[in-house]
Amino acid sequence: VKTAAQWAEFGRDHVCHGLGRLRDHVIVKGEGLDLYTADGKKLLDFTAGIGVTNLGHCHPHVSRAAAEQVNSLVHLQCSISFHAPYLQLIDRLLPAMPHPSLDQFFFWNSGSEAIEAAIKVARQATGRQNMIVFSGAYHGRTMGSGALTRSKPIYTQGTGPLMPGVFSSAFPYWHQLGVNPSTSEEELVRLAQHQLDLILRQQVNPKDVAAIFIEPVQGEGGYVPVPSAFLRHLREVCDKHGLLLVIDEVQSGFFRTGSYFAIEQIVPELRPDILVFAKGVANGFPISGIASNKEIMGKLDVGSMGGTYSGNAVACAAGVAAQEVYQSGEIAQNVEVRSKQLFNVLNGLARGEKTKHLITDVRGMGLMAAVEFRNNSDKCTLEGLPEGSSVPKNIGKRVQEYCLNKDLMVLTTSAFDTIRFIPALTVNEEEMDRAMKIFTEAVELVAR
Ligand code: PMP
Repeated sequence: VKTAAQWAEFGRDHVCHGLGRLRDHVIVKGEGLDLYTADGKKLLDFTAGIGVTNLGHCHPHVSRAAAEQVNSLVHLQCSISFHAPYLQLIDRLLPAMPHPSLDQFFFWNSGSEAIEAAIKVARQATGRQNMIVFSGAYHGRTMGSGALTRSKPIYTQGTGPLMPGVFSSAFPYWHQLGVNPSTSEEELVRLAQHQLDLILRQQVNPKDVAAIFIEPVQGEGGYVPVPSAFLRHLREVCDKHGLLLVIDEVQSGFFRTGSYFAIEQIVPELRPDILVFAKGVANGFPISGIASNKEIMGKLDVGSMGGTYSGNAVACAAGVAAQEVYQSGEIAQNVEVRSKQLFNVLNGLARGEKTKHLITDVRGMGLMAAVEFRNNSDKCTLEGLPEGSSVPKNIGKRVQEYCLNKDLMVLTTSAFDTIRFIPALTVNEEEMDRAMKIFTEAVELVAR
C-alpha cells in the first residue's frame, strides 16, 4: 500500500510530462465544493474541474442516475441503434436550446471533439473550407480545434502544420486591439468590425469561408464577454455571405453565466447555426455535442458522423439527470445571488484604497468571473495608475500561490495576469465568503 506522498511521487514518475498541474495533491473524493486528498486534507474547489461540475462534485441526483444506468446498459454504439438515454437527453435539451431552430443533435465525448464535429459539419454543409476565429480564442488542442485556438502558443507549438485555412480577427477587447483600458465598448466594437472587414476584403473571399467560430464569453482568453453589438454584427456578416455562425458554449453553457447559455443574455433570440456544448452538460461524465438545424444537418452524408463512444449511455443518463436539476430553477437563482456576493468583493478590491492600483479590470457574467491585475511589462495596463504607486511583478501568480497554500483551488487564465473564479453553481454563502476572505488577504498581502 502506497502513502499519499508515494502516490504523488509515482504520478510525477509516470504521468505524461506534458500535462501541467496546480499542485501534486492526490484527490480521493469530491463532495459539493469540497475535495479530499489522500493525506486527509480538505480543499475548497473554485475550479469545478474547469467549469465542468457545475452542480458540485458527485451531485446525488446525477450520481444516482448514472449508477442505475450502469446496471441496465453501459454502451451501445449509436451507429448500431438508438438507445433510450441518448433520446431522453435530446428530449431534455430541446427546450433548453437558445433558439428553436436547434433541433438536430450529435454527441461526442470532449469539447475538442465537438469542435471537430462543428468544423466537419460547417465544411460539408457549405462546401467551403476556411474558418474565421478571434484572437484569444480557445477551442481545443486537437489538430482541427487546435488550429482554431489563439490564446497561447503552448497548446499547439511544435505540432504543426495544423488544419490550414484559419483566419484570426481581433476580439473586441482592449488588450486584443492594443488600445487603452478606458476605450468605450462602442469604439472596441468599431475597431474589431474593421479588422474583420479587412480580412474579408484583403485576405479571403467571404464566399470561401465556411464559418465564424466564437465563444460568447472568452474562457481561456480571460473571461471576456463579447459585446452584443459585435455578436449581432457577426450574424449579419454570416447572413450576407452565407457563412455559418458557430457558437462555442463549452465553458459558458449550463448556467455558468446565469442562463442556460450565455448568448441568451448577450443577444436574446440570436440564431446560431451550430451550438457547441460540453463540460457542464453531464456534471463531469464525458459527453459533449453540437446542435444545429435541419437544413444544415440534412446536408450530411449518412455515415459521415460517428464515433465509438459518441453519446455513451451512462453519460447520457447523467446528462438527463443534470438537466432535471438545471431545469428546476434553483441553480439560476443561486447563481444570481452568489454572483452578486462575488462581484461585490471583487469590485470592492478594484476600488479599495490599498488595492486599486493592482487591478485593471473585474469582468465576467454569473459565476464566470475574473480579476485582471496590472502587468508591469504591459504599458496599456499601467494607464491610469494612481500617482506614486508601484506595481509588483507577477501579481496573479503570487495571489494564486497564496490561495493554493490556504487550500483554496483557483485558476489563472491564459490571458494577461488574470485570476478566474469558477466554483460549482451550488456554492453557498459561507463557501463564497471563505473563498473571498482568502483572496482578499492574498491581494492585500501583495499590495503591501
Ligand atoms: N471550447 C472552449 C470554450 C473551452 O473552454 C474548451 C476547454 N477548456 C474547449 C472548447 C475544449 O474542450 P475539451 O477540453 O473538453 O476538449
